[in-house]
Amino acid sequence: MRGVTAQVICAAMLGGDEYPSTAIGINLPNADWIRAEYGSKSITISNITDAYNKASRHSGFMEEFVIDAPTLQLIRQYGDCCDDLHTDLHECLGHGSGQMLPTTPSNALKAYGNTIEEARADLFGLYYIADEKLVELGHTPNQEAYKSQYYTYMQNGLLTQCVRIKLGEDIEEDHMRNRALIANWAVALDANHEVVDIVEHGNKHFIAIKDYAKLREIFAFQLKEIQRIKSEGDFEQARWLVEKYAIHIDKALHQEMLERYQRLNISPYKGFINPWMKPVYGETGQIVDITIDYTESYTHQMMRYSSEF
Ligand SMILES: [Zn+2]
Repeated sequence: MRGVTAQVICAAMLGGDEYPSTAIGINLPNADWIRAEYGSKSITISNITDAYNKASRHSGFMEEFVIDAPTLQLIRQYGDCCDDLHTDLHECLGHGSGQMLPTTPSNALKAYGNTIEEARADLFGLYYIADEKLVELGHTPNQEAYKSQYYTYMQNGLLTQCVRIKLGEDIEEDHMRNRALIANWAVALDANHEVVDIVEHGNKHFIAIKDYAKLREIFAFQLKEIQRIKSEGDFEQARWLVEKYAIHIDKALHQEMLERYQRLNISPYKGFINPWMKPVYGETGQIVDITIDYTESYTHQMMRYSSEF
């Protein structure tokens, strides 16, 4: 089917490369020309996202890294809803939008292409999540909710995502590079420190967002520029942005984040244990039902799979 389709599904169990750790969504195809000619499909796995959200609620993570009680309240109230919405905007409309100049070859940005494309999709989501139309359509509850996403996005890109990286190492993964790119570049664009800043309270660093409406204007500027780079295949500018903002981590901040994160004793990546699906047989040996057992341990599951398959 031509066009953009988006579906929300619940995973019954995970397998292959997506087990025990899994993506929260799938968006295909990758090739721009196939998207332009035939369209794209997105799938979001909602029970996985929901499980991540619920697991993170009691980890103490937000309490440690969010700057103050009102911001924390904003995130508790709207964070899950806006995060899901941002993912959907990123996948369906972000990756699904944008035109290339007919003369631009699809690999013009070479090694920087993936980071630029992820940044384009994220910026699309960041800009449009604050649109009044989304309130009108009932996707966001009010005109305040998007601020939760702006805060957690900047906090992640500027500070906390580096807890997944060893001290002294660079950012390698495209999604992480894109978040660092957007966040660091936004701070640089805010030359007078009127919009967003990294501030220090009692030897700890936090993100302070002073003007959400102006931050949206910065995202709009970035989206326009990233789209231009992609459409025109401006390799030099892509290289400059990625090399300047997306790769390097401030060593002192990195160390502080790792120490604060370590004290919380939570893992940077999470995995899942599948339910044990046990068939119930009828009188003639046919399967009449499947019971779902959640009591199996991870070790037991791994050992069982290796003997059964
Ligand atoms: Zn993406």
